Formats: sequence, C-alpha cells, structure tokens
Amino acid sequence: MTDIKKEEEKSLNFLEEIVGEDLASGRYKSILTRFPPEPNGYLHIGHSKSIALNFGLAQKYGGKTNLRFDDTNPVTEDTEYVESIKEDIRWLGFEWENEFYASDYFEQLYGFAEDLIRKGLAYVDDSSAEEIARMKGTPTEPGTDSPYRSRSIEENLRLFREMRAGKYRDGEKVLRAKVDMSAPNMQLRDPIMYRIKHAHHHRTGDDWCIYPMYDFAHGQSDSIEQITHSICTLEFVPHRPLYDWFIEKLDIFPSHQYEFARLNMTYTVMSKRKLLQLVNEGYVTGWDDPRMPTISGLRRRGYTPESIRTFAEKIGVAKRENLIDVSLLEFCVREHLNKIAARRMVVFDPLKIVLTNYGPEEEWLPVEDNPEDPESTHRQVPFSRELYIEREDFMENPPKKFFRLAPGQKVRLKSAYIIQCDEVVKDATGKITELRCSYLPESKSGGEQSNIKVQATIHWVSIVHAIVAEVRLYDRLFRVEDPANEDGDFKEYINPDSLQVTAAYAEPALRQVKFNEHYQFLRKGYFYLDKDSSEDLLIFNRTATLRDNWVKEQKKQ
Ligand code: ATP
Ligand code: MG
Repeated sequence: MTDIKKEEEKSLNFLEEIVGEDLASGRYKSILTRFPPEPNGYLHIGHSKSIALNFGLAQKYGGKTNLRFDDTNPVTEDTEYVESIKEDIRWLGFEWENEFYASDYFEQLYGFAEDLIRKGLAYVDDSSAEEIARMKGTPTEPGTDSPYRSRSIEENLRLFREMRAGKYRDGEKVLRAKVDMSAPNMQLRDPIMYRIKHAHHHRTGDDWCIYPMYDFAHGQSDSIEQITHSICTLEFVPHRPLYDWFIEKLDIFPSHQYEFARLNMTYTVMSKRKLLQLVNEGYVTGWDDPRMPTISGLRRRGYTPESIRTFAEKIGVAKRENLIDVSLLEFCVREHLNKIAARRMVVFDPLKIVLTNYGPEEEWLPVEDNPEDPESTHRQVPFSRELYIEREDFMENPPKKFFRLAPGQKVRLKSAYIIQCDEVVKDATGKITELRCSYLPESKSGGEQSNIKVQATIHWVSIVHAIVAEVRLYDRLFRVEDPANEDGDFKEYINPDSLQVTAAYAEPALRQVKFNEHYQFLRKGYFYLDKDSSEDLLIFNRTATLRDNWVKEQKKQ
C-alpha cells in the first residue's frame, strides 16, 4: 500500500470505515442515509454536525440522503418549523433525495403494530403511566409483568382497533411490545409503542388519535425507506437492541443504527426545548436572534455555510461526548471572511479632526477592497478637511509605547496621508471636542514619498460624506461554559451584556450594501447587514471580532 493510500485510510472516521467496508463486501450496492429532524424547533449548530455527516457520507460514497421529518408528536410540531428546517439545510449547501414525513407512514406503522399483536408480541395495557413506571423495576431489579400482559391476541386486536377508533381517552390505554420485563436493558422492558393523544396533527389533522412512540416509528421508517446507515447520537445506544428487535420480528428491511457523540459547545445551550424557552420568555428576540446557536441565528449574524461546514469537519466524528470551544467556530468564520470580506472604514466612537492646512475641496482616494484577494477591486473613498477618527486612537498624555495620535505625534490615515496633531480643543467640562491637525501633502499613499515612516495606521471617515449606521456588537449569550450543567435553571447564567448597540459613521460606499455581502470594518471585526435595516438606517451585526484567541491558544500548546 502506498503511503498516500495509508494516510487516506487513517483519516477516515469510524462511520466512513463502516460504509467503505459495507460497500466493499457487497452488503449494500449503494448507501442511503437520512437526516430525521423533529419539526419542533429551528435547527442549531449541533444539527449541522448531523447534516454534514449524513449528507457528507452519502456524497463521499455515491449514495443518497433523505430528509425525513420525524413528526410523531402532534403537540409540539408545526409547519413553520418544517419550512425553516428545509431553508437551513439548503443554505448549508445540501440537497435531499426525498422529502418524507414519518406521519406519511402512520397507516403502515399501524399495520406493523397489528402484525406484532397477531404474532403475540404486543399487547394493550390499561395500567396508568405511574403503574407502568413502577412495574418497570430499576436497573438492578427486574420489572414485574403487567396484569394485562397475558391478554389474548383477539382481545388485543379489538382493543387496539378501539383505541384507533377513538373509544378511549388520553392515557387510558397504551400498546406495548412484549419483549422482556427482566431484561438488564430497561429499554427492552415492554416499551410503549402507541399512546392515545386526541390532538390535531400539523399534517394528518384529526385522522389519528393514537400516535407511535419514537422507538416504534423511527426504525420502522428507516426500514420503509430502506435506509442502510441510520446515524444518531449516543443517547440512543441503549435503544439499538429494540431497534433491531422490531425489525427482526417484523421481518422488514434490515436498516442499522450507528451512534456518534452529539456536539456540545461552550457558552451556549443546544437543545430545542431550552432554545424555545429563550425565545418564549423573551431572553432573545427570536429563533434567529444573532446570539442564538441556531443556523438561522448564525446566518443572520453573518456566518457563511462554508465556515459551518469547515467547523463540522474540524470537530470530527467522536464516539465520546465532549464540549467544543465556541472559539473554534469563530476561528472558522474568521478564516473564511478574511478571504471574502470587502474592507470598509467605519468609526464607532468619533473624535473630530480638522486639517488646518487642507483646503475646502475634497478628493476621492482609491482604496483596495480586499488585500487578501489577488484580484481585489478598488473603491473611491472621499477625503476632506474634517474627519472622524476613533476616540481611542488619540491620547493626550500617551504612555511610551502609544504610537497612534498624540499632541505633536504623527500617524498615518489608512490609504490617505500622514497627519500630525497640533492642538487639542476642549469644552468647558474638559472633554476633548476636536483635534486641530496638519497633514503632510507629500505623504499621500501610493505617492512618491509614501514611504515616510510612522509607527501606526488608523482608520477614518470624512464627516460630510459619512453615513450614520447602527452596529450591534454581540458577546456570548451565557456567562459560564456549560450552562445546562450548572446548578439551578440554565437561564440564571445568561450574560446580561450580550448585546451592545451603538451608532457608527461609515464611508459612503456602504450605502450600496446588500444582503449576502460580508464586510470587514477595519480593526473592528466582520460585519453583516441585519434584516432590521430600513431605507433610513443601515444596521450591521458583528459576526466576529478580528482577534484570534483560538489560534494563540493552539500555539501555546
Ligand atoms: P434537541 O435535543 O436539540 O431537540 P434532537 O436530537 O431532539 O435535539 P432532532 O430534531 O430529533 O433533535 O434531531 C435530528 C437529528 O439531529 C438527529 O439525528 C439527532 O441525533 C441530530 N442532532 C440533534 N442534536 C445534535 C447535536 N447536538 N449534535 C449532533 N447531532 C445532533
Ligand atoms: Mg428530539
């Protein structure tokens, strides 16, 4: 074997190895995976891991992927979620082979259930939820048989049909699989297959008042679609024997379940139930709040599909739960945006500069849009007598190593001229209101003497040409690394300062900004137009700051 081949094999994850072997051995001619979201919330970054894995495996091995909505719980599901899920998957760059719904299989699943009753492998139980839980036993004590476990096949069939016909109230009866009440694996102690729920379903309406449980719907749906590799997260490991039991007893297509570690990320929560609480209780403005770990939140914040796919690749496919540092995700988006984002100058906290030796005229200077791009275009940026610089770029009494503007000190204005501060003007309270400066005409960027040395370059905007915008700066939504695993309610750990809103003065080229355009505001970070923008006010979300803590951390190790 060549070294390259060896390298390739080494870098395969365990699922790729399994698929590769299954194809090589002829177990399957081609593979079919599925992504099976429950439409009870918006997709989050954790789902993108599963999406990248399922679609990625199929792509790599010439297979296909179904999108299946696991819509067996009528109470929490909604078409709004179905639509958002489809939009998010497409945005991430994946296309499914078929769009299916577990609810499409309700009739078939019902048939499977009757089949098991006829085989003496399922029974109707009248016990209450509490009684069933009590009879289940504990991991160290076997369970006890329900008094209804020995019902005849005929009686079970009649009762199950009556359940379907709506004869009973919610909770009055359930259908259970007859597996093994003393199995060490609690999942096998006669799990519930169907419960009664008189509820309206977002697709089947009022056709059904009994709904299958996850364990009875999921594997059977896989089998109906002839899914070869059914990939789910680790908490389903103990469910696998049941998955196999149903398929074996029904003698249907042998789909197989494989498990990988779910993605957990620092400074956020990653369960739709918790994210829904944040939305409903007003901690965020919606599912697509740019602070949310949802795909729609990340998109609105200015993340790119490429950066999320790179992230999913970098974290790999683990078999053990772990907590991924959110700064890795930030690193991925920075890396991508650095390549594609056009640079613009925007001043957040303005300090006025008057160039006393510059006339009343203006000039338009060509400035490169992206120095990282060999084919970078240029834009024209207006320069005039009155400018804004960042207040923090000036110090009246600077310490030794402060190289930006100070009385008598020079600094370069990005792509323009070197200026020197001659005079500091203050108001009655002592606050600095403007700096009177002179510029060095010969220092013009790109000009013959543009190599005059100064220690620092700062960004600026021409006051009369500037447009006012709003910028939204985000911090982590939670104060602690793993809020879901802290004492008490996770919401106690919310960061009260996760959003800072400020006005900013932008160069006029930004007036033409469009959605889908990513910008780097020089020295300020990466920014993206927010949907709250209007004709009168442009609003930008900071996608990420420019500082790259993660890389520094890596280098230290
Ligand atoms: P949640 O707890 O957030 O509601 P879920 O697992 O109930 O998550 P589903 O809609 O049922 O959400 O999940 C669809 C698919 O995405 C499943 O195969 C599930 O295993 C996977 N998935 C969900 N969360 C994660 C995660 N954090 N990391 C990796 N995969 C995930
Ligand atoms: Mg779920």
